[in-house]
Parts: sequence; structure tokens; C-alpha cells
Amino acid sequence: MLSFSKSKYCSLWQCPKMAWLNKYKPEELKPDDSTISRMEAGNEVGQLAKGLFGDYVDVTKYNGELLNLSAMISATKREMEKGTEVICEASFSYDGLYCAVDILKKDGGGWAIYEVKSSTHNDKDVYIADIAYQKYVLEHCGVKLNGVYLICLDSGYVFDGILDVHRLFKITDVAELVAGEEKSIAENLSAAESILSSPTEPDIDLSINCKNPYLCGFWEYCSRHIPKPSVFDLHRMPFAKKIDFYRKGLVSFSDLVSRPEIKSKKQLRQMEYSLMDKGTYIDKEKIMDFLDNLSFPLYFLDFETMQPAIPRFIGTKPYAQIPFQYSLHYIEKEGGALKHKEFLGESGTDPRRALAEQLCADIPMNVCVTAYNKAFECTRLQELAEIFPDLSDHLLNIREHIQDLLVPFQSGYYYNRAMGGSFSIKSVLPAIYPDDPDLDYHNLEGVHNGGEAMAIFPQIQYMEPAEREIARRNLLKYCELDTYAMVKVWEALLAAT
Ligand code: SF4
Repeated sequence: MLSFSKSKYCSLWQCPKMAWLNKYKPEELKPDDSTISRMEAGNEVGQLAKGLFGDYVDVTKYNGELLNLSAMISATKREMEKGTEVICEASFSYDGLYCAVDILKKDGGGWAIYEVKSSTHNDKDVYIADIAYQKYVLEHCGVKLNGVYLICLDSGYVFDGILDVHRLFKITDVAELVAGEEKSIAENLSAAESILSSPTEPDIDLSINCKNPYLCGFWEYCSRHIPKPSVFDLHRMPFAKKIDFYRKGLVSFSDLVSRPEIKSKKQLRQMEYSLMDKGTYIDKEKIMDFLDNLSFPLYFLDFETMQPAIPRFIGTKPYAQIPFQYSLHYIEKEGGALKHKEFLGESGTDPRRALAEQLCADIPMNVCVTAYNKAFECTRLQELAEIFPDLSDHLLNIREHIQDLLVPFQSGYYYNRAMGGSFSIKSVLPAIYPDDPDLDYHNLEGVHNGGEAMAIFPQIQYMEPAEREIARRNLLKYCELDTYAMVKVWEALLAAT
């Protein structure tokens, strides 16, 4: 007999091959930065939600670093017999099926399951499958259930200085949805048993489920038979459409380049340049038109932000983007020296006011500012202007004068095949300067991308002084390279005209 946990059941529910790979080839799992930060957010949110109904008993027990499941099951039984109203991580086992309920709460003459998710979306089918599995296990253990609920973060909640968990969390009664899902559990479990007891990998091909909503951590393994580059590297094509081509056997660029369905000039150029190594495509006239929009003094601005699941700063919502750092390169006049300014907030405090003040001091009004993918910087400036009315004229003035360095690349004025299907600065920079170690993000220490910056900044407050110093230096170096990269990209555009 196989043993099952709720996470194993959920991975089976999403894709049986995922569960099989988790069991037989776990080393092939490649979680990305967003998986790790989602897990961290999940732990933080789960911990906070435990207090939603007042006093509670948490029956989590460890044996070394591993959960001690049998001790948790015994402790749950004891607490239920004692009449404890709220039990967190209440654990049950039936016929090899195990589950720990986030919150088990007394409900009339029975109990109710509350499943906590750190998402602001309460409409994901897999959540219902998760709760249905828990209900199945508990009822087979003889627990009378009077309700099943999903707890998510309320995207509309605004922190006003005092965290109100009753408004932060949104509780949804999912009894009806769970009843619909429950019917297929026994069938799913028996199918799962035959899949997981066999050492033969299930024959399941790539599908739209591989991105639901994030690309599955086994994508690299499951797509290893696909040539590189392929339809999955094509610029700006929805994943569903890529899967559609793949299913029709149209995978490599040579399969696709003459297909009448592909009409996008940029996608066609991407394939032609990749297949024929045509060097760099340059539309001089368009690049000159773009550069005509820039003027001296010229500024290059980049923000780093964090996205706390639980809002802690006044006026913010769950997962709001909080700018905590910026880098600013600037050149005062044509032929002038390149200068640099920067800001990095204090971890553990609200960085926004100090950042906004220094930004207004560092960037005068009515000057030309560049950003790479300006929608992000413009939105942050708009948000800062809304919370600091005394600085709003200046912040909005900066916003109005931002030019987007992404435009020449995204619009296809400048392209070479090393860019592949991405026009992010991390793809464009090495494509233009392939052998420059000073421009290689891999040569940075500690922080190599925005995800790492976002994860490290909130942790700095808990670090020892020496470690803190290193983390701050790494953040500053990383953000500085982002704006230096913009300067180099601008120089490449100038050189192309
Ligand atoms: S990449 Fe797709 S096929 Fe492979 S395990 Fe993930 S969801 Fe299943």
C-alpha cells in the first residue's frame, strides 16, 4: 500500500507525471526564485492565520528536522478529546493517507476544516482538490465535518497602521465545490496507486497544464527532447499557442519559419536571425527617432522592490510592490562624465519616504530620465506621489519625463540572435556585449537578479553587522549594474546610428 500526503495528492491531481517524478527523480526538480519566495510567503501567511480564531493549539512535532507524524496524530487526538476549540496542523492518517489540516475548528457538534493559502485568488481548482482530499481522510477517520473553508488573502485589504487579520483574510465556504470534487477521490487514488507503484515513467506529454500558472519545476526535464531554440523560445507567443504548435509537431524554428500562421514580424525575424546568423538587425532611422527623444542632462533610473504578502506599511495591500532601493547613473552634458547616485533603505523599516525624498533631491525637475521597461518605474512613482502629496509634483514630473530604453529592442529596431525571444536587460546586455566580465551578472556576488534582491532585503534586519554589510554591498552592486547596463545599451544604440 502506498502512503499519500495532501501535497502528493495535489501534485497527482495536477499532473500524474509530476507526482511520479517527485517520487522517482526528485533531483530533476528545478524550483525557480518565485517558487522559493512563494513558499516563504506561504509560511508567513500560514503562521499568521493560525491566530484568526483566537487561542489555538499547534500540534506540530519534530523528530530532528523531520515532522514526527505519529506524534502529531496522537497529539491531535488528545486535543480533540480534551475539547480544544482550534487545532492547527491537526493530523490524521487513514489507510496510508495522511494529512495535516491547517486549522481544524470546532463547529457545532462537529468540526470544520480551514485551508490557508497565501494567494489572493480563491478560485483555483487545485485548492478544492486539496480540501476534498483532507475531508476524505478526516471522514474516514470518523471525524464529523460540518464545514470546509478556504482562507486566502484579500487583495483589497489596505494596511492602516494596525494589522487586522479579520479583514486581511477572506474566508470562503467551499462546501459545494468540494462535494463535486469528492466523488472522484477514490478513483484518483487508485489511479495514483498504479502510477506511483510502477517504476515506469508515465507517458504524459507536455500540455497547457505545464504552466498553471507558473512553469512546472520539472519543465526542463520533461522538455529535454525539444531542440533549442524552439517554439517555446518564441517572443511574445502565449503558452497555449506554443503548446498548440508543439502538438502539431511544429517545434523547431525551421518547422515554423514558413508557417503562414506566424505573422508577427518580430517572431519571424527572431527565427530568421537564429537560423541564418544574420548578425545584428539595425533600423537606423527608427533608432535615431528614438534617440531624438533623449536629451541632456540624461538620467538612467532603476528601482528594486519587495512584495510582502502581509502588508506592514501604511497604505499598502498584500503583495504591493514596495520600492526599497534605486540606482541612478547620469551624464550632465554631451561628452560629460558618467556619474552615479544610489539609495538603499533600512531593512525592517518603511523605506518609501526616505527613498522618495532622496529621489527628488537626486533628479531635478524637467530632465530626461530613462528606465528599462518604464511601466514599472512609472507605476512606483505614481504610487509614491499618491502617498506623499508634498512630493507629488516632483515625483510626477520625473514620471512624465521617463523614456523607455526597452522600446528599440521590443519594437525590433535592434536585434541579434543572442537575444533569443527576450528583450529584458538581462538578455539584451550579454547579446550586445558578450565578452565583457564587468557587464556579466554572473560575476556579481550574492545578488544576481531582482528576485534575489527582493528576498535578501527584508532579511537584512535579522543579520549580524558583518553579514549585513556584505548583503547591503551586494545589493548596491547589483542595482548599480542594472543602470550601468542601461548606459551601455544606450551607447550601443548611439553607435548603431
Ligand atoms: S512539466 Fe508538464 S508534463 Fe512534466 S511534470 Fe510538469 S506538468 Fe507534468
